[in-house]
Amino acid sequence: MLVNLNKVFSRGENEKQLCAQFDFSGENISFDAVFRQPVNAVLDLKKGRDEISVTLSIKAVAQCSCARCLKLFEKQFDFTQEFVVTPAILTESEPEIPVDSNYTLDVKQLVLQELSLAVPSVLLCREDCPGLCPVCGRPLEENCGCQPRQRTDPRLEILKQLLDNDD
Ligand SMILES: [Zn+2]
Ligand SMILES: [Zn+2]
Repeated sequence: MLVNLNKVFSRGENEKQLCAQFDFSGENISFDAVFRQPVNAVLDLKKGRDEISVTLSIKAVAQCSCARCLKLFEKQFDFTQEFVVTPAILTESEPEIPVDSNYTLDVKQLVLQELSLAVPSVLLCREDCPGLCPVCGRPLEENCGCQPRQRTDPRLEILKQLLDNDD
């Protein structure tokens, strides 16, 4: 979706709102998060004297897998980012907002970029997820009842006795 920021305003207008939906189900945004449902984006554009301010609001939901317990969970994304497009930005080789020298903004690219930045590198089902039981491999939350003692390898047990005798 390309929007020319110079031509989007009608005569006398200096504010414009654009809404768009994107299908990012096939995009490789994150290894552990998939955006199966449409991603909603709202662009609020304001024309100033020399600059155009762009406020991007994104609402999305991702299906994620927890980095500790591997459980699948949904994560909501709802955030706003602001950008200012000035004549100087148009000449930058890597501007923070994907706009070319003709004021053409690649909205899809912008939403994709901001969503990628918003996905944490470590996704957890909850902040204090205890992870998996080292004995049976089930989530610790399920109270599998394994005894921590079972964790020790019998061969290590002998070693432990030897070390204990040393004291
Ligand atoms: Zn978890
Ligand atoms: Zn267990």
